[in-house]
Amino acid sequence: MGKRALAERLHGLAGFRDPDVTLEQYPTPPDLAAHLLHLADLQGDIAGRTVLDLGAGTGILALAAACRDPARVLGLERDGDALAVARENERTVAPGTAVDWLRADATRAPLPADSVATVVTNPPFGAQSGNEGADRAFLRTAASVAGISYSIHNAGSQSFVESFAADHGGEVTHAFAAAFEIPRLYEHHEREREEIDVELFRIAWD
Ligand code: SAH
Repeated sequence: MGKRALAERLHGLAGFRDPDVTLEQYPTPPDLAAHLLHLADLQGDIAGRTVLDLGAGTGILALAAACRDPARVLGLERDGDALAVARENERTVAPGTAVDWLRADATRAPLPADSVATVVTNPPFGAQSGNEGADRAFLRTAASVAGISYSIHNAGSQSFVESFAADHGGEVTHAFAAAFEIPRLYEHHEREREEIDVELFRIAWD
């Protein structure tokens, strides 16, 4: 399945029913999810691999991975309501590989070290007050359980991500910028739709 076909398959999935701002629930737009998983697959990080989506939400990154013939996909998420939507979305997408949904805390993931090949994650950015550095805890988990990770961060994160990776035995091998469209989900959003600038990183962990 090419990138466009993958994006089409991911369009129209159900979103968060009752989004929880404290968990920073922002769904990845389908085109960006398809782009990320397509690039990861081209790098040899998806097909035949065990893939973990940290903070899977309504499942789009896990489901995109599951369309690219992985050995196994795990979608880990703390919010049970989001996981219920993810299961519905799995029926809609009907990927070639079934996803194992796991309700757990991504910052204390019940997974052994080096148990997965590839992490994909759109972590909380830590944008909400009191939550600064939330993406750091997700990267720490990626460093411990995976060989490779792909993560989405807000613009201006490159130096933080590079130094975090270096401090945890990793190296940023690819970085690119993208636009991330967010629908009006929360009271504090003034406009109907808003586009924010994000950065994506591929990190190879020791
Ligand atoms: N991966 C999805 C959702 C991204 S939003 C997508 O790309 O569309 C971030 C997700 O992380 C939310 O679903 C939120 O509930 C989840 N989350 C936040 N803190 C978490 C934690 N400590 N453990 C597990 N999931 C968490």
